[in-house]
Amino acid sequence: MTEPTKTLCPYCGVGCGLDVLPPALPGKATNRDKQGNPIWQVRGDRNHPSSQGKVCVKGATVSEALDKDRLKYPMMRDSLNEPFQQVSWDEAFDRIVQQIQTVRVTQGPSGICMYGSGQFQTEDYYIAQKLLKGCLGTNNFDANSRLCMSSAVSGYIQSFGTDGPPCCYDDLEETDCAFLIGTNTAECHPIIFNRLRVYHKKNKSVKMIVVDPRCTQTAEAADLHLAIKPGTDIDLLNGIAHLLMRWGFFDSLFIDDCTKDFPEYAEVIRHYKPELVARKCGIRLDDLEKAARWWGESNRVLSLWSMGMNQSSEGTAKVRTLINLHLMTGNIGKPGAGPFSLTGQPNAMGGREAGGLAHILPGYRVVKNPQHRAEVEEFWGLEPGSISPNPGLTAWDMITGLEQNQVGLLWIAATNPAVSMPDLERTKAAYRKSPFTVYQDAYYPTETAAFAHVVLPAAQWGEKTGTMTNSERMVTLCPAFRSPLGEAKADWEIFAEVGRRLGFAEQFNFADSAAVRREFVQLTRNRPCDMTGITNETLSEFGPIQWPCSDSSKDEGVYNKRLYTNLRFNTPDGRAKFGAYHSKGLAEPPDPDYPFVLTTGRLYGQWHTQTRTGRIEKTVKMHPQPFIEIHPRDAAKLDINEGEIIEVRSRRGMGRFPAKITKGITPETVFVPMHWGSLWAELAEVNSLTHPESCPDSLQPELKACAVQLIPV
Ligand code: SF4
Repeated sequence: MTEPTKTLCPYCGVGCGLDVLPPALPGKATNRDKQGNPIWQVRGDRNHPSSQGKVCVKGATVSEALDKDRLKYPMMRDSLNEPFQQVSWDEAFDRIVQQIQTVRVTQGPSGICMYGSGQFQTEDYYIAQKLLKGCLGTNNFDANSRLCMSSAVSGYIQSFGTDGPPCCYDDLEETDCAFLIGTNTAECHPIIFNRLRVYHKKNKSVKMIVVDPRCTQTAEAADLHLAIKPGTDIDLLNGIAHLLMRWGFFDSLFIDDCTKDFPEYAEVIRHYKPELVARKCGIRLDDLEKAARWWGESNRVLSLWSMGMNQSSEGTAKVRTLINLHLMTGNIGKPGAGPFSLTGQPNAMGGREAGGLAHILPGYRVVKNPQHRAEVEEFWGLEPGSISPNPGLTAWDMITGLEQNQVGLLWIAATNPAVSMPDLERTKAAYRKSPFTVYQDAYYPTETAAFAHVVLPAAQWGEKTGTMTNSERMVTLCPAFRSPLGEAKADWEIFAEVGRRLGFAEQFNFADSAAVRREFVQLTRNRPCDMTGITNETLSEFGPIQWPCSDSSKDEGVYNKRLYTNLRFNTPDGRAKFGAYHSKGLAEPPDPDYPFVLTTGRLYGQWHTQTRTGRIEKTVKMHPQPFIEIHPRDAAKLDINEGEIIEVRSRRGMGRFPAKITKGITPETVFVPMHWGSLWAELAEVNSLTHPESCPDSLQPELKACAVQLIPV
């Protein structure tokens, strides 16, 4: 019997295990898609500890896009006006290396930027860090995770001393109260949500509270839906804290023994009188009180959040304000409790571990820390001082860097920012200005390829071996089960070859990706994300493993599913820190000229900018076109009918979308999904409307809200 390849779904951060079998099995009919093309067979891996055999439509259909519209060989051109010409890898590498050398001389290392992706495997991330931050001496590596969960990273670091979601999926079935804020988990993390929903249905005493301006599928399943006005999350959370204080629902022992800065926090929440909070949030006072009572009366509260909190100009403050509620009530470090950030992408977590953002280094180190830099320099065999002490350019900084002629080489890999970045017209204008852009991806065409001088074919899911970490810190080995298409190479191999051609032969001498991981995990030794016990060999032998898992804990069979179970945190004094914040509200609130708040989000069957799901018949059928959700009251005021095309304008751009009139959206708020770029629909790019105002700590843009006007066409 043919044994399936055990791997991971390459879409969302739930990280479901998959079993993959070839299209043709002995004695069985060949598995084919509707057009008759043979396709690899995919089903859930029942033995994967995070998903136990469950998959959603995206995971189930992922193999259908393996052969469609693939980029098979490198191509180059001198200017964006010319067509691409096929070239050899040698020619492409020579051109890239030549440009890197030129920029190093003319602009210094800070003229080189790379924009990577949570779709990378950890090995891709690690080699990119070694190349950029180590060998080239620039921290200008950022990933699309900056747009996704960097506020969660900075919130965890500021509250607990280091990054790292402290919870695990088992907590979904051990909680008394699930508090979901800024997350449409039912559509964006469906397998997690199904697990929570089943448990919630079976256990009548368990409460589910959902906070969202939209009545999403997630909100429909809740016992209490708080449809707050966009931008009032901190008001709500401080209002709940105020009531918890007033009613005595706080854990003074935990506060005294395990935390600091509570008095400053108590002083802030004193001002959040429930009547004022309810009015500001646009919810009923008794609903606010109910939420506070349910939180206070529960022994174990689990909060879940994703982009609705993170994509905000006060994202870090929101995350910390949520964490405050856990600290105040001692809801952390025990089963069924804790603040759980759900990552959007399959390996955003691996990126955090490998140092894949502009301010961090491998092993949960930060570039600003001299000791951390020295440890990494020594490990990489580099001269002291090789790693810059300055955080590099973030996703949006790269755009302003291009505008100001500070960037001489932009390298984009495994992401499609010409759809996903905010203020898209400005973003595209900046890309047009780039003197030299390398674009590395599995698919062609994409919206971003139009801005490249060199395109490089990347091996994708199933064509390269590597590891990925999901939201609950579970690391899974993802082996190749077929050869890369055409001349495609693994991302890490491309980075390593450039490194060798730049003269760093010793640093990039890896036989395979297992050797890359063996080296990487040594950099996690004695760090909070210690993974020295998680190599390709141990993953092959034992299956997926959660970190922390040092080589000694693996030998002793000691694993810990949760962080901070000893109630000591990673701060110098071991105490978690309260963060006291007043709400600032939206960076661009509505006004008489732009009276609606536009919020954006994802749909169940689509993934990001559709580079893969847009090529799969079933997922396209589920969501054939974008739309704008409008409340019936607003539709009546503007005389808008169902299906009518609405022109939506912000201060930066416009888009046209058919109206979907629904009571599921808060009045004066509208919603447009984020998946459509110019390749899939005309004038339907929601990010033409959004703005880049960012959280000052996480530098994550406020993609979730901007002010717009609506004009029936
Ligand atoms: Fe893949 Fe996420 Fe669906 Fe699981 S829930 S199958 S990881 S897209």
